[in-house]
Amino acid sequence: MYDIFDQLLQRYNVTAYKVGKETGIASSTFTDWKNGKSSPKNEKLKLIADFFGVSVDYLSGNTNKVFCRDCGSWFNPLDSEDEKNHLRIHEKWEKAVVKFGFCWNYIRSDEMQLMYRKRLKDKNLPSDKAMHYLEELMKAEYSDLLRENDFNYYYDFNTFVSKQLWKHSVRDLVSQEVFKLLEDKYGINYDNDPTTTSIESTVEEEKTRYYINDETAKIAQEVFENGDLRLLFDASRNASPEDIRFAVEMLTRMKKKENFDD
Ligand SMILES: [Zn+2]
Repeated sequence: MYDIFDQLLQRYNVTAYKVGKETGIASSTFTDWKNGKSSPKNEKLKLIADFFGVSVDYLSGNTNKVFCRDCGSWFNPLDSEDEKNHLRIHEKWEKAVVKFGFCWNYIRSDEMQLMYRKRLKDKNLPSDKAMHYLEELMKAEYSDLLRENDFNYYYDFNTFVSKQLWKHSVRDLVSQEVFKLLEDKYGINYDNDPTTTSIESTVEEEKTRYYINDETAKIAQEVFENGDLRLLFDASRNASPEDIRFAVEMLTRMKKKENFDD
C-alpha cells in the first residue's frame, strides 16, 4: 500500500512532507506507514487519494484504474502508456470544443440531464423556460454523444437537435407549443443518423416499418403535424389493438353523425 503512495510521490514529483502540509496529516503518519508500524486511517487515506486525484481503492491497491470525472474514462496514472492514451483523449476533447463550440464533461453532462429532465416535468412551466431547459438537456446529450464517438461526431449542435426532434422521447418532454417553437428554430431533420439510430430509431426507419408507401407516409406526416390528431397518433403507439379499433369505430360513428347533420 505504501508502495503505491511512494510511486505516486515519484510520479508527481512531490515529497511526503508536501502532501502532509497540504492535507494536514502529521509527518509521523507517513513514517509509521513506511516502516509498516501502522497504516493511515480511512479518512486520512481519502485526503491523500484526493490530493493525487485517485480513489481510496486505488491507493489501497484494490484496483489499478482511476475514473476520470471529466472524460469518463478509466486509466492508470502510474502506467505511462495508459496515461498517454488518456492525455490523447483530452487533446481530442480540446479540439472538439473548438470545432463544435462546447463539450461538457462527464459529470456535468450527467447532472444537467437529471436536473433538466426533472424541471421539464413541471406542467406549468412557461414556454421560454421549457425551451431553454430542453436546449440545455440537448447540450448535455450532445456532449455525451461527442465523447461516445471519440469526439468525432459529424453534426453540429443545431443539426443534432433537429434530428432529436424526430424522437418521441424528445417530443414527449415538452408541450406542443414548445415543440413548435423548437421546430421553428431548428427544423426537423428526417435524415437517417447512423450514430443515433442505436439509441432510438429515426423516422426513416419508422417509415419503412409503419407505412406501406410514400403516400401513406405523407398522410401520416399530415396527421403528425396536426396538433389534435397527433394526440391520437401518439396515443395509438401504446394502445392495444382493441383500444385502437374502439377509437376508430367511435370516430367513424361521429363522422357518420356529422354527415347526417349536414
Ligand atoms: Zn480524462
